Amino acid sequence: HPGFDIQAVRRDFPILSERINGKPLVWLDNAATTHKPRQVIERISHFYAHENSNIHRAAHTLAARATDAYEHAREVVRRFIHAPDAREVIFVRGTTEAINLVAKAWGGTNVGEGDEIIISHLEHHANIVPWQQLAAAKGARLRVIPVDDQGQIRLDEYQKLINDRTKIVAIGHVSNVLGTVVPVKQVVEIARRRGITTLIDGAQSIAHTPVDVQDLGADFFVFSGHKIFAPTGIGVLWGRREVLEAMPPWQGGGNMIADVTFEKTVYQPLPNTFEAGTGNIADAVGLGAALEYVERIGIAQISRYEHALVDYGMAQLASIAGLRLIGTVPGKASVLAFTLDGYSTDEVGQALNAEGIAVRTGHHCAQPILRRFGVETAVRPSLAFYNTFDEVDQLVREVRKLAARRR
Ligand code: PMP
Repeated sequence: HPGFDIQAVRRDFPILSERINGKPLVWLDNAATTHKPRQVIERISHFYAHENSNIHRAAHTLAARATDAYEHAREVVRRFIHAPDAREVIFVRGTTEAINLVAKAWGGTNVGEGDEIIISHLEHHANIVPWQQLAAAKGARLRVIPVDDQGQIRLDEYQKLINDRTKIVAIGHVSNVLGTVVPVKQVVEIARRRGITTLIDGAQSIAHTPVDVQDLGADFFVFSGHKIFAPTGIGVLWGRREVLEAMPPWQGGGNMIADVTFEKTVYQPLPNTFEAGTGNIADAVGLGAALEYVERIGIAQISRYEHALVDYGMAQLASIAGLRLIGTVPGKASVLAFTLDGYSTDEVGQALNAEGIAVRTGHHCAQPILRRFGVETAVRPSLAFYNTFDEVDQLVREVRKLAARRR
């Protein structure tokens, strides 16, 4: 039993009533993006119908409404991730932009020749490439925490990698390919003891597990709105206030300045320092509505239900002959990845789509971890709290049929 009214939840998401190839849609591609409840869709529509304006700059009523709505969303984000101060919440385009911002603004100042940056073998390309670019620009070195055969990072190897040249540890909270929940609190604690800066990529954890940035202890926590029932094009960089205040701005322009002359610009304080130009106001408001929606259900309830669903799915898939599960760490979040003997991953994806079941196939923007397990691509069903045991059964039934046909 999910601990919430799952049928009522499903009715809140209009797209879940779509039919695909004559079959009810079974959306198991939540790690790529999640669907939006009508509460979010209606909130954005309300914004454009009644509140639309640029923020901060004008003295008229709509500017006040838009500013209030935008700042309310910032406060909701603060509450959702348990940040101490809403000024530490920076709206960005998504996880990718947040990590690039930190790599450029923080890394540009704090990383030099011979320094080291630690990531893990589990990372999404978004938490690899910006650090690689920074390392190349600065003559620094990228070090990678290896994973074991189940798909968990090796803490013993991490302890060996970390040293006096380590400047930052950037680590994913949940793997988007394996579903591994990484012990990020421990990773952060080990770094902090040595005064090393830390960043957590929360793209795959935000919708599946409670997040308390103060408890996690990192300097940065980043996520994308679209992975948590909010629109695309909006995301969050949370940073510890003193760390953000010591960083130079990333982009320059309107909104982030207090005073400009041709000789000199004085910047706005946080959060505006890092919000140059007109932001994605309506979608930030939509993100606030999405987080309020999740708060009403309860992220702890969601997490408990999803873990039961994932464990069930893992057990069912494991019983299919010729199916290889990739990533078998107990307590996985959301993601089930596998390959099937006799089929390309695309063939599996297309066969499932014919039955209305949407899963991602391919390299999932995380080639290194797939190669660690000896494959280039995988089939990746991924769950959210609106998925049901019945939908998992449908997935398993169709995969079992495919497996039987090749034997
Ligand atoms: N990190 C992880 C772990 C992800 O799963 C994703 C999205 N697949 C990203 C980063 C990048 O997120 P976005 O494309 O929304 O910027």
